[in-house]
Amino acid sequence: QAKLNGRNQFHLFDAEQDQQLRTHHNQRARIRQALQQGEMRLYFQPKVNMRQGRITGMEALLRWQHPEQGIVGPLHFLPLIEHTDLIIDVGDWVLQQAMEQLRAWTGLHADWVISVNIAARHFQCKDFVERLRTILAAYPDIAPERLEIEILESAAIQDIQHVRDVMLACQQIGVSFALDDFGTGYSSLSYLKRLPADTLKIDQSFVRDMLEDKDDLAVISAVIGLARAFNRVVIAEGVETPEHGAALLRLGCELAQGYGIARPMPAGQVEAWADSYVAPQIWGHGKDLEWE
Ligand code: C2E
Ligand code: MG
Ligand code: MG
Ligand code: MG
Repeated sequence: QAKLNGRNQFHLFDAEQDQQLRTHHNQRARIRQALQQGEMRLYFQPKVNMRQGRITGMEALLRWQHPEQGIVGPLHFLPLIEHTDLIIDVGDWVLQQAMEQLRAWTGLHADWVISVNIAARHFQCKDFVERLRTILAAYPDIAPERLEIEILESAAIQDIQHVRDVMLACQQIGVSFALDDFGTGYSSLSYLKRLPADTLKIDQSFVRDMLEDKDDLAVISAVIGLARAFNRVVIAEGVETPEHGAALLRLGCELAQGYGIARPMPAGQVEAWADSYVAPQIWGHGKDLEWE
């Protein structure tokens, strides 16, 4: 009797798992279709130099303009494909769109850098550098220095020798690198010494509570110190208020990104936003600076 139950349970579990696999398979097929049918969009979130009150560039963030569900964020669909080769097609599309956008912004904003998030599987595929070269070659008028690749700190250390080689090869071409969500991975000094990343991007989880939480503040000062010691650029993400920015400035971090500056927006809204952007007074900008 027990044996029979066991079997039944096994079958039940099996069927459930089977169902789930089928669903995932269908979802992946739908995501592929979305890419092919032009339902993917890039939104852009500004990065600013708080000391200079200047826009330095934009991070490209993927959105799915779903015909029934509206705008779907990347965390709702990228996890379903990030361990399949589909993530490579999506990533190549994002890179190509970023180049297209750089070309569109060249007239007015020739100094902006676009940052693109690249998944570990894509970055680690054998021909990543060749694929990147091919994409860049289609835009001979756009300097590769205007493209930055963000990879998760946690992904960068998976195969550090390979990641190091790929980074160096890309940097040879002119493309720069940021370690995204920095502080949430291993952040070991020996990894950082071996990884030639240009920029450390402080994870938003530390920024959020930095004004109340001494430990988060300590992590942030440590990362800023690390960046200085290793001669890397440092940027903070998740800057939700001018006060967060001011605290970061005091600690020596001049670059910031976050809802307090701007939310990610469609490409068509970026120019108008940039034209009207004025950095807050608390960073030493704004119209009336009598208090200085
Ligand atoms: P990320 O690269 O760390 O990007 C930051 C995320 O935080 C974005 O979410 C952004 O909208 C959000 N964010 C920005 N400022 C603030 C803030 O002040 N407060 C809060 N609470 N959130 C803020 P999003 O667009 O949903 O993207 C989530 C993650 O998905 C990204 O994290 C990135 O890892 C991944 N992702 C986005 N686009 C792509 C892509 O094209 N390719 C790949 N492989 N991954 C992508
Ligand atoms: Mg990012
Ligand atoms: Mg991040
Ligand atoms: Mg993140």
